[in-house]
Amino acid sequence: MRNHVMAGNWKMNKTFSEAVELASGLAAELKGGVGDVDVIVAPPAVDLKGVAEVIEQEQAPFALSAQNVYFEESGAYTGETSPSMLESVGATYCIIGHSERRGYFGETDEDVNKKAKKLMEHGIVPISCCGESLEVREAGKHVEFVCDQVRRDTEGLDLSDPSKYIIAYEPIWAIGTGKTATADDAEEVCGAIRRTLAEVFGQETADGVRILYGGSAKPGNVGGFLEKDDVDGALVGGASLKADSFAEMVRAA
Ligand code: PGA
Repeated sequence: MRNHVMAGNWKMNKTFSEAVELASGLAAELKGGVGDVDVIVAPPAVDLKGVAEVIEQEQAPFALSAQNVYFEESGAYTGETSPSMLESVGATYCIIGHSERRGYFGETDEDVNKKAKKLMEHGIVPISCCGESLEVREAGKHVEFVCDQVRRDTEGLDLSDPSKYIIAYEPIWAIGTGKTATADDAEEVCGAIRRTLAEVFGQETADGVRILYGGSAKPGNVGGFLEKDDVDGALVGGASLKADSFAEMVRAA
């Protein structure tokens, strides 16, 4: 059985003190426990250490994720952050290949694949994002497009422990737009992703990888997604910026 995942992507929001405040608020909201849901928050890089301290001090039931990483160990890569650096501040997950990174910063599937390999060497679980544009969806090519992305992003990965690799399906047209995919839309693609994983890595591995939906997920709609067989949780942007609404989503999982 796959544990559900509820992951909050704070994107480029929250100064250091605001991030600490949000993490403390979430810790208070989730004091009653989260059952077997894997709850994850992904603050901006400069806030990671502060949030890690809140998690430790409050014994908070959530784990820390970065939003990006570079695939080299160290050296002359101004502005970048290495997997060891993330590890050293207590990040146990890292989002890679988000459509905003692909779109604004030119991240390619090859980069995403290299990042996943490096993270996994460091025991950090990648949350690898994929998803189609509106144009691709309107052309009816979304399933093929996303499955091809997944093939490239997972090429050569060691998924012998499939619980250590997470995929987030995020249709670009649904991110931050208030326009959600329906639960059936999400299931169509998440199911196809799982079949692709089964072709490449075998059914047992495919059955162990958590596949999340992301894109305008909020307390009012997350339940519908979670009812679907191949949707194992959500990657949440906007609605993760308020402790009470994100906590409500965790309870729905
Ligand atoms: P959103 O963002 O929930 O604000 O649409 C989701 C994401 O981009 O991860």
